[in-house]
Amino acid sequence: MSIELQPIGVMRSAFVEKFGIPRQPRLAPAARGQILLSPPYDSAEAIAGLEHVSHIWLLFVFHQAHSGPQHTRVRPPRLGGNQRIGVFASRATHRPNPLGQSVVRLEQAEPGYLTVSGIDLLDGTPILDIKPYVPYADVVSDATNQLAPTPPVLLAVNWHRDALAAAHLAATRLGEPVVQLIEQCLAQDPKPAYQQPAPEREYGVRLWDLNIRFHYPQAASIRVISVALAD
Ligand code: SAM
Repeated sequence: MSIELQPIGVMRSAFVEKFGIPRQPRLAPAARGQILLSPPYDSAEAIAGLEHVSHIWLLFVFHQAHSGPQHTRVRPPRLGGNQRIGVFASRATHRPNPLGQSVVRLEQAEPGYLTVSGIDLLDGTPILDIKPYVPYADVVSDATNQLAPTPPVLLAVNWHRDALAAAHLAATRLGEPVVQLIEQCLAQDPKPAYQQPAPEREYGVRLWDLNIRFHYPQAASIRVISVALAD
């Protein structure tokens, strides 16, 4: 059996490449995005009632992942990136079907678009469905997961003075919390956990039209070297 699904909208987000995106929703509250709803869901009636809802589930397609039956085992970054577990014990993007789900905060609902925050979705991600978060059913107070027992340990993020000034300028131009977003994303440590880079090794992430360069002066800290318009 094959199933055909039609997206109901598309995510517009700061995340124009996969590297640097938080690995789960709600880890970077400053990560805002807009879901552009497609007809006929761009009407007031499709979103009526959402004013009563603080969080929503997004069901979406990992449109930039390789899916298929070959993916029975995966190497989650959380386990260092070199230990394999079964795909159904993981939320890895490479899976039998390219389906993702994230709980995000609903900031605003207007006919045609929803503003959300705490997202972990690439720009351009097709959205298949949206459902309200239902606390009494979705909060599992005695749930355990020994593969992911605690939130990720955060790295300290500090700035070169010129990089911070450039980030503040970009925040004004874009009308977005650029400084907070960079700090929240980098604090998650974007690189694979098994890499132990030399202090002079530089990494880059893209957010909107910005190229953010950083390095690891010590193991548990990141320094932002520059924030500049990408080529
Ligand atoms: N919360 C979702 C879930 O559990 O299904 C996603 C978890 S997945 C580990 C999060 C990662 O997916 C992000 O860090 C980003 O690298 C990647 N990602 C986000 N949107 C994507 C897309 N449209 N295509 C491929 N990869 C994507």
